[in-house]
Amino acid sequence: MAKAKFQIERRCEVCGMPFLAKTIESRYCSNKCTQKAYKRRKAEVLKNEALSKIAEKVDDTREYITVKEAMAMYSVGRTSLYQYIRSGKIPSINLGKHLIRIRRQELDEYFPKRNFANNDVKRLPKLYNMEPENCYTIGEIAEKFHMDDSTVYLHIRKYSIPTRQIGNYVYVPKSEIDNLYK
Ligand SMILES: [Zn+2]
Repeated sequence: MAKAKFQIERRCEVCGMPFLAKTIESRYCSNKCTQKAYKRRKAEVLKNEALSKIAEKVDDTREYITVKEAMAMYSVGRTSLYQYIRSGKIPSINLGKHLIRIRRQELDEYFPKRNFANNDVKRLPKLYNMEPENCYTIGEIAEKFHMDDSTVYLHIRKYSIPTRQIGNYVYVPKSEIDNLYK
């Protein structure tokens, strides 16, 4: 079983190119695409952070809110929100150009509230390219940085560095290790 090599053709979730995935978790073809995926997720979290700040400021008792506030509080895009407003499904008052206020009661009925849980950029899990060519084995780390295996394991646990076992080897992303011991 240790010798069984995992290798399956997948499409990279970023660039769409087929690649040979060597671990079950492989989702991206290269380091470049892994980094792109991480940047995208980070941008999404930051966007959510901005939305949650807008939503937070809306008092619970307020009956009418702005379109911007509605988009921050509910999972709804601008286009469909305006469709609901134009069709009259959501009552609105127009105080002038860009000054539409819409009633919250109907929004509650039609759209789910946005979920801002787990929206913390500091806790965003980093994505790693765990393909063996981007990793060191424990033995390689021990040799390269002149320490014994148990010290390597200790540091990996201490700094929560991800590892992946493939066959008899434990793989650790090169980038993390080089960073740690540079
Ligand atoms: Zn790719």
